[in-house]
Amino acid sequence: MSADLQDPRFTDETAAREALEAIVWPNGPVCPHCGNADSARIAKLETKTARPGLRYCNECKGQFTATVGTIFERSKIPLTKWWLAAHLIGSSKKGISSHQLHRMLGVSYKSTWFMMHRLREAMRDGVMSPMGGAGGVVEIDETYIGRKDGHEVKQGAWHKNTILTLVERDGRARSFHVDNATKENIVPIIRENIARESHLMTDEASRYSKVGSEFAKHDVVDHSRKEYGYTDHETGVNVNTNTIEGYYSIFKRGMKGVYQHCGEKHLHRYLAEFDFRYSNRTKLGVDDAARVEKIVAGAKGKRLQYRRPNEGSLA
Ligand SMILES: [Zn+2]
Repeated sequence: MSADLQDPRFTDETAAREALEAIVWPNGPVCPHCGNADSARIAKLETKTARPGLRYCNECKGQFTATVGTIFERSKIPLTKWWLAAHLIGSSKKGISSHQLHRMLGVSYKSTWFMMHRLREAMRDGVMSPMGGAGGVVEIDETYIGRKDGHEVKQGAWHKNTILTLVERDGRARSFHVDNATKENIVPIIRENIARESHLMTDEASRYSKVGSEFAKHDVVDHSRKEYGYTDHETGVNVNTNTIEGYYSIFKRGMKGVYQHCGEKHLHRYLAEFDFRYSNRTKLGVDDAARVEKIVAGAKGKRLQYRRPNEGSLA
């Protein structure tokens, strides 16, 4: 399916709803109240006053639409705009600002901001299968960004937020906001997320040395000695951390240029956004159209509470 902006999902509310239904209910409607999936026992309500797409369950007498239990539930924003927002955020390599999206969608700035956070939630990885595997290389590194809450003055790295990222060469990225880059914070994440058969590549930091020995192989690039990579002559494998540096370069340009006012409590959502785009990039065979469908599929089961008027409690 084309993700061209003329796509009916972006312009026609019925097409947008049917496209959502096809993703949420791949085998036909399922009642979210009682689990009934018997299409003969589910009726489409098509009275003048019924909301489009409203279904009636003969088992539990409940009513529902495909948006129940998704980030779109109870949203007053048309589904066409949700599809368009998901497409734009999914296809913009360094992200897109709420200001720009607000102008493009014709939705208020405040609503756009909340839409974007809900879409980031949809981009968050549900199932965390181990990274790497036999013959797979996983690069690990940290970076520092923004400012921790409560620190108003810029005084070096300690007041910044620490991000730990794991990147599979030719594969996915997974980032974590950690308190600081100590062994205690980092080692459990590495153990939980990377298959033991993997080949790790890190810099020379001592926090990686002991945990590294638990994996098939651990190679170190000593940046302190101005070493930036070499080829292992035994295996022919290139030892470097170029992949993760490339990831951070996109992440930092995006965060600086587009999301300069990201608060600490929302940082994990931005990480989910950048990880998602990286893990579903064109080079891995995921085109813009497939990416927007993955975002919408991820909207299932991620309903966020709408809290008014204090919507700031979204974290
Ligand atoms: Zn039911």
